[in-house]
Amino acid sequence: MAYNPFENAQAQYDKVADMIGLEGGVRDLLRSPMKEFHFNIPVKMDDGSVKVFRAFRIKHSDARGPAKGGIRFHPHETVDTVRALATWMTWKTAVVDIPLGGGKGGVICDPREMSPGEQERLCRGYIRQLFSQVGPNIDVPAPDVMTNGQHMVWMMDEFEVLAGGRCPGVITGKPLGMGGSQGRTEATGYGVVYTLRDLLAAEGADIAATSASVQGFGNVAEYAAKLYIELGGRVVCVSCWDHADGTAYTFRKADGCDIGALVAIKDKFGSIDKAKAAALGYEILPGEAWLSQDVDILIPAAMENQITPENFPLISKRVRFIAEGANGPVTPDCDPLINEAGIQLIPDFLCNAGGVTCSYFEQVQCNMNYFWSREEVLEKLSLTMSRAFAAVYVLAKEQGVSLRDAAYMIAIRRVAEAVQLRGWA
Ligand code: NAD
Repeated sequence: MAYNPFENAQAQYDKVADMIGLEGGVRDLLRSPMKEFHFNIPVKMDDGSVKVFRAFRIKHSDARGPAKGGIRFHPHETVDTVRALATWMTWKTAVVDIPLGGGKGGVICDPREMSPGEQERLCRGYIRQLFSQVGPNIDVPAPDVMTNGQHMVWMMDEFEVLAGGRCPGVITGKPLGMGGSQGRTEATGYGVVYTLRDLLAAEGADIAATSASVQGFGNVAEYAAKLYIELGGRVVCVSCWDHADGTAYTFRKADGCDIGALVAIKDKFGSIDKAKAAALGYEILPGEAWLSQDVDILIPAAMENQITPENFPLISKRVRFIAEGANGPVTPDCDPLINEAGIQLIPDFLCNAGGVTCSYFEQVQCNMNYFWSREEVLEKLSLTMSRAFAAVYVLAKEQGVSLRDAAYMIAIRRVAEAVQLRGWA
């Protein structure tokens, strides 16, 4: 079955809008994005030819503040994926209560097959097309799948050339020394584990006695795995996509993966070298094997639509917690199965909100032109995530609903209130 992420996002929204009795214009307005930009970017390739890339920037809502959200480079990017991600950003910024809205961008391209020069020209072209529609008070992009700090600096530089002055608050996820924040690299993965830590504590589980299986080995997965191990947990396996083979593999070490050793043998797209991993004693299993491990916790931190009713039976009966590091990794029709199995799931837009929270800190620091230490950033991040998690957990217990529904109830109410206060609906 093919899943459409935007239909998923709308189905989740409709369900909660019913639960909280949201009606009329407010309900309609928040059901789909406020603004969409679809455009072509012509790029001079190294061989002299011109290739045209299809790109999107979508603002779901800026009722609570400027739109905020990453830009993905992906060969299978679709406008509905970008719409869904923009929608989730609105709920994400609202659930952690930062003064930003929701947006997202995407380019249909494969940076793995483009030279650095071609990627730079693509980044600059993206900003040239959108110049009047991005800015610190309008819409603030950031990195996402297959984009990084270098891409953000090229985009910021192009914006500043056009604006005729420095404007580091236009984009977040920049490298340190270029307006970037300490802690941003690890923020999303750490945020995943801050919420997981709080859930385990609330449920009376000792993190040091737990084990986890992780899907993905990119930015989110790597730092989530690192911090989880630092707090005493055991990561039994990680899985990642192999670009050369066009398939995913699971790298397993039952007594615990050494994340530093695996990072040393992964490429910049998060693919682990199979031969080197085998030499380090890792079992190399099919991609889906990460799902069927005998562990307490699953951390899907790769892509959307990875846990479905079809593969749900593969999940071990021992699993009690799922931390959605990725956006939309569980399909909505799988949620009832997860709830019936008594598995507690931390929903994506709360679980992976550490990145956008730190991006907000980055903007605040850029605006002040005064930068905090890593400890200060991570302490503020941990506090913000804990505060957001506690509100969601308490509401879920009070109302007897899932953590996903409780998080949606809080977020949608906050955005609806902003829409009403502004007099939009
Ligand atoms: P990334 O590009 O750094 O890494 C993606 C990882 O997933 C890679 O290791 C890749 O090999 C792996 N992967 C891809 N397809 C796979 C498959 N089918 N099976 C197993 N592994 C697969 O991306 P990232 O920044 O870590 O983002 C991961 C997810 O988290 C995405 O859903 C993204 O939208 C979300 N997210 C990222 C951030 C952030 O700050 N980076 C913030 C919030 C949410």
